[in-house]
Amino acid sequence: MIPQTNPKAAYLAQREAIDAAIRRVLENGWYIQGEEVAAFERDFAAYTGSKHAVACASGTDALILALRGLGIGPGDAVITVSHTAVATVAAIQLAGATPVLVDTDEYWAMSPQALEATLQSWPAGAPKPKAVIPVHLYGQPAAITEIAAIAEKHNLILIEDNAQAHGATLNGRMVGRWGKAAAYSLYPTKNLGAIGDGGIVTTDDDSVADALRALREYGWRERYISAIAGMNSRLDPLQAAVLRVKLMALPADTARRQAIAARYSAGLAGLNGLALPRIRAGAAPVYHLYVVDAGARRDELQAKLKDKGVGTLIHYPVPVHLQPAYQGKIALGAGGLPNTERAAKSVLSLPLFPQLPDSDVDTVIAAVKAVW
Ligand SMILES: *Cc1c(COP(=O)(O)O)cnc(C)c1O
Repeated sequence: MIPQTNPKAAYLAQREAIDAAIRRVLENGWYIQGEEVAAFERDFAAYTGSKHAVACASGTDALILALRGLGIGPGDAVITVSHTAVATVAAIQLAGATPVLVDTDEYWAMSPQALEATLQSWPAGAPKPKAVIPVHLYGQPAAITEIAAIAEKHNLILIEDNAQAHGATLNGRMVGRWGKAAAYSLYPTKNLGAIGDGGIVTTDDDSVADALRALREYGWRERYISAIAGMNSRLDPLQAAVLRVKLMALPADTARRQAIAARYSAGLAGLNGLALPRIRAGAAPVYHLYVVDAGARRDELQAKLKDKGVGTLIHYPVPVHLQPAYQGKIALGAGGLPNTERAAKSVLSLPLFPQLPDSDVDTVIAAVKAVW
């Protein structure tokens, strides 16, 4: 079976360096915060070109901290998409704010038109829009230039959900550099993955970084004294040490993801009715996922590929606004969410991780061609 993703392969590829990093932490005896975490934060800030990077316990927490650090909470509406990991929407509610979900564009990311239309027809009496969180889904940059302009026009705080897009660029500029803050997940299968949970927020704003550092640890600026009401969301030094090793490999891993995507796109071109990922003008995607649009034949394609030993996943099978916890309880943007609902029925993620050999990519291509 060729798996859709394989975090163990990433460990085995750097086994000695990772084992040594873990041993270093075990032996130095400092198991919360400290120099390993600070060093990873410096490395990640340098990688992203951000002034500050503040590590925390998960990508979900990174979003919650970014929202709270920017003063967003009860009484505020935050606009995002429904075609995303549920964490994007959950984080808004966990920060005490009210999510509003808008439709996607032809690249499966937030539609600037839907965003603008939603803001134009904002219902009187509803919580006022305070922030917008576009998601750079699948490692593809969203229409961030247009969204940033709309955010500025309507006085909205822009936060980027970068959980799937470490290092992706648009017109040569990294995503995560448009907003006031960007939230990253370091979940094992993400482009930069820990050996457990992890997250990190980047920002250029000194006072926001200061708030994030306090919020992640009980609101402390001084030990045992809570200056503000905070939470406990720290990245383990063990994870930070592993992540420092993996961050060094990220540029090469990204190049490999891009090469695999190019191989798929060449090998699968011209299949009638099977749409391959489209690249936005000026974008350099980092292919967290290689997602095809199989239309009405998606479930059939997935089942037949499974029979041929090819693992696939669906990101995501049910839009957030149609999941039991949220259905009927979340405001939807102007025009409804037809693209989102269609995407959930037609998307399929093919195997893609940096250690996937070309021979397996070719096996997947042949399998898709045989069943299509
Ligand atoms: C993975 C992910 C998150 C949440 O990250 P966790 O580390 O799992 O909490 C948020 N948003 C998106 C788009 C994600 O893919």
